[in-house]
Amino acid sequence: MPLKLPICNFDAKTGILCANCEARLQKGEITKADVEASKAAIGLSDRLPELNRVALRRAFDGGGNYVLEFEQKDIPVLRSNPSMYSELETALKGKVWIVGAGGNDRKFLEDVFFPAKVLTVNTVWLSDGGKKTKVIVPAKRSERRIGDFDKLRDAVRRARGIELLVETEREAASKLHP
Ligand SMILES: [Zn+2]
Repeated sequence: MPLKLPICNFDAKTGILCANCEARLQKGEITKADVEASKAAIGLSDRLPELNRVALRRAFDGGGNYVLEFEQKDIPVLRSNPSMYSELETALKGKVWIVGAGGNDRKFLEDVFFPAKVLTVNTVWLSDGGKKTKVIVPAKRSERRIGDFDKLRDAVRRARGIELLVETEREAASKLHP
């Protein structure tokens, strides 16, 4: 089974969109991020054979950093290759988070923060009526996946419309017991 992409595999390989994909891009059915991620994925599919067993559904660009949405069942396949993230990041020249399509916000955030654990997800209401989603993670901030909060925030907003706040367990506790 070849890699499944939001554009034709042939287009991804050549880097040139066919008339049909070009029209879908113009209509906004697919985005530039979908095209860029498709090109990157197909370019890596020889070296990373796991990619030939998965389907990339959509890609979201948050200022040069990407949330890549695959089929839910593909997530363990992608995580089974330890070079998957670093290879995708090199190809896309930005940070990459891999998430499963569908599912609720909690599931989405668990994918985003993997391998860090998500301890708590809370909605925080702002005085202007807006809301943020606060995620509490374990004390270590050094985990690679949560290493860059600003980049993470933009990509997550694009993907799900979630305004993300991240706190470690320790920071959350110090607010309760200052
Ligand atoms: Zn096409």
